Amino acid sequence: MNIQGIGMTSMRTRMRLIQRLSDEGIRNIRVLEAIKETPRHIFVDEALSHRAYEDTALPIGFSQTISQPYIVARMTELILDAAPRRVLEVGTGSGYQTAVLASLVSEIYSVERIRPLLDKARDRFAHLKLRNVYLRHADGGWGWPEAAPFQAIIVTAAPKDVPPELLKQLDEGGRLVIPVGDNSQQLLVITRRGNEFDRRIVESVNFVPLLGGTVI
Ligand code: SAH
Repeated sequence: MNIQGIGMTSMRTRMRLIQRLSDEGIRNIRVLEAIKETPRHIFVDEALSHRAYEDTALPIGFSQTISQPYIVARMTELILDAAPRRVLEVGTGSGYQTAVLASLVSEIYSVERIRPLLDKARDRFAHLKLRNVYLRHADGGWGWPEAAPFQAIIVTAAPKDVPPELLKQLDEGGRLVIPVGDNSQQLLVITRRGNEFDRRIVESVNFVPLLGGTVI
């Protein structure tokens, strides 16, 4: 089936999602525009593409999910506040959040521990002709030291505690946006001021866990 032909992937369906995000408090026009222009239906399996513009997380295999558009929009807003040039993402997953950021910042480095997810994401970036995305198959809890410092780091899976290596790879004034916690998680924004790290709680969230150890 020609994916462009599916009615649910139409611009009208996308516009309904944008309206909903705006009603939910997403104010940044650049973020709303990036979400409108990013085809979320190519980041899910074809069998789920009719649900791609619902404001909900969806399964992508390997017990992982593509994040809910609201949370992608919220985290992207928080990242853009740091006016970043170079961003690190931990947890590429489907690549949807990566693609949204790629349209807004100069360079995005993204790390994923599940190789088949990373390979699929890479194909999608090629299809979309995104040339500012750099990918690595690794445990993202260690960041990407060779590409540091980053003006912003976004983590799309929840550790129990903030990985110290990520703090080290933040630039001065840089921001880490990260969900933290076990059963109940909080979205944190941590800003670097010299060797001090200001923490702010944004809201309660529900992410898959950030897993350490071997990559698969
Ligand atoms: N932004 C993604 C979210 C995917 S879910 C999207 O919207 O599609 C979170 C992802 O984090 C999963 O793909 C999971 O495999 C990955 N992940 C979990 N622990 C990780 C780790 N230590 N290093 C890198 N990726 C990790």
